[in-house]
Amino acid sequence: MRKPFIAGNWKMNKTHEEALAFVKEVSGQLPSHDQVETAVCAPALFLKDMKDAAGSSDLQVGAQNMHFEDSGAFTGEISPLVLADLGIQLAIIGHSERREMFNETDQTVNEKVHAALSHGITPIVCVGESDAERENGETELVVKRQVEEGLKELSHEQAKQVVIAYEPIWAIGTGKSSTAEDADETCGQIRSVLSSLFSTDVAEAMRIQYGGSVKPENIDGYMAKENIDGALVGGASLKPDDFIKLAEASS
Ligand code: PGA
Repeated sequence: MRKPFIAGNWKMNKTHEEALAFVKEVSGQLPSHDQVETAVCAPALFLKDMKDAAGSSDLQVGAQNMHFEDSGAFTGEISPLVLADLGIQLAIIGHSERREMFNETDQTVNEKVHAALSHGITPIVCVGESDAERENGETELVVKRQVEEGLKELSHEQAKQVVIAYEPIWAIGTGKSSTAEDADETCGQIRSVLSSLFSTDVAEAMRIQYGGSVKPENIDGYMAKENIDGALVGGASLKPDDFIKLAEASS
């Protein structure tokens, strides 16, 4: 059985004080880790203090990005070595905003996935088609390429630790969410790709989240689907009440 996983992606939002207030408010109110995994991926500057504030609660704290090298001449980048040293064991890799605005490619995604796993950091690997690709009927092809390239040369044991987030770009921050049926179909295609890349057992063990305008009002539809194991949530994860509702609906 795959455990549902609700992860918030705060992007570049909240002040340090607001971030800590969020953790204080939600950490005692989330369903138990036995039922659903919960995490918030926050700006790097807040991670250590959020992690301390979360204490022994079930709320995990993750990064939104990291570099693939441990150290060196990479001005402004985030070292996976330092994340691990601070106890951060989760990172979003290859979000479409990073692919579009910060030149991330399937190749850098692959390097980052390897780096994350070598430091005990669980990568949430984002894939998803643009509006134009969807219109051209290329969704399956695009997502297949992103999964194959992004997860290249992982062992079966490593692959099992990876979380995939299927996020159609046209649905991110637009309020135009994918239907649960369409999202499930693509997540099923992703699972087939994982099965060919690794094995059926590995594919069945791996979690695939849907992301793109998920909110308390539509989470039930996604969670009812066979191939959707949770959500990567932007806007709605900023509000404590909505985040708690999303976790409760997934438990
Ligand atoms: P959204 O963002 O929930 O605001 O659409 C999702 C994401 O970018 O991960």
